[in-house]
Amino acid sequence: MDFETRAIHEGQEPDPTTGAITTPIYQTSTYVQEAVGVHKGYDYARVANPTRTALQECLASLEGAAHGHAFSAGLGAVTTLMHLLSPGDHVVAVNDVYGGIYRMFTQVYEPKGYRFTFLSAEEISRGLAPHLDERTRFVWLETPTNPALNIVDIQAASAAAHAAGALVIVDNTFATPYLQLPLELGADLSLHSTTKYIGGHSDVIGGLVATNDGAISEQLAFLQKSLGAIPGPFDCWLVLRGVKTLAVRMDRHCANAAAVASFLQGHPRVERVLYPGLPGHPGHEIAARQMRDFGGMVSFLVEDEQEAVDLVARTRIWKLAESLGGVESLIEHPARMTHASTADAPFAVPPTLIRLSVGIESADDLIADLDAVLGR
Ligand SMILES: *Cc1c(COP(=O)(O)O)cnc(C)c1O
Repeated sequence: MDFETRAIHEGQEPDPTTGAITTPIYQTSTYVQEAVGVHKGYDYARVANPTRTALQECLASLEGAAHGHAFSAGLGAVTTLMHLLSPGDHVVAVNDVYGGIYRMFTQVYEPKGYRFTFLSAEEISRGLAPHLDERTRFVWLETPTNPALNIVDIQAASAAAHAAGALVIVDNTFATPYLQLPLELGADLSLHSTTKYIGGHSDVIGGLVATNDGAISEQLAFLQKSLGAIPGPFDCWLVLRGVKTLAVRMDRHCANAAAVASFLQGHPRVERVLYPGLPGHPGHEIAARQMRDFGGMVSFLVEDEQEAVDLVARTRIWKLAESLGGVESLIEHPARMTHASTADAPFAVPPTLIRLSVGIESADDLIADLDAVLGR
């Protein structure tokens, strides 16, 4: 079945006892057993919950994966993945990784003796091999990256990582499985903050890991129950409800983002537009090869920092807020907001950069709002 159909039906058969077409919110902590150890597949809700099972089956299918594990947050998923490693192990990560992941790697795990090497998207795509050693366990990719929208060649990076015996993790939050299938391109694990496009309505925090590796999936199920970074049933239900419309939302996000990027590129007050759909973007060709379309995120640079800070507070439809991927358009200043934790890194976000999460409102309204605040 096609993506759009699986998003609505996979893992979501009508409830067998009542016929309810929508998967119920199984708001229960425990399950009654007929005899010791005799039950219907559920014993305690940290281990498994039917609403979570439906979500995991649906999202795994969308990623082209055999297994999916849902978590309390994108960062809950990352924390759980980090428990596959031990101090002394080495992780190579793209250097403009999501700010919260950079903070976790450098401020939580590095002091405990885990080792990290941060490389640019370009270095990872073209020359990863010399940076890998016998203790390199993860190659951590994000593509497109946040907020610079750099593109990593997943196929090339996976080949180099696998030759060195490392696992490849792709943070697929920006692209979503509708636009990009990391496992098909050679990655071992695909990671999501379902808070963003998959949930799509700015009303829930959640995470997911998908994989075709049965042994890793078993380890993740063990860690899910042993560490406890699990989502509640209502949160699972919200994500499941959101994902049903992912395909139509992404089509509109992409179309609106392309229109906004093209408007910005022609504007005299804009120094530079970062959007992988623009032919001049350094990752355009790789993106065109590994993505169905170029996504709903656009970044642009203005002349000076004060102008950027003032501008993001003056738009009317674009709301000044962190996060992304919801139906409503958001604008933010990463250097002082989402990416403040990378301020001291050599690859800090330029302070003149503004990030847009282009929503699914009317593109004309969105462009008019930006035009009004940009001035001439
Ligand atoms: C938001 C985000 C995360 C973290 O997810 P949470 O749900 O906020 O914990 C990870 N990666 C990317 C790319 C994100 O945008």
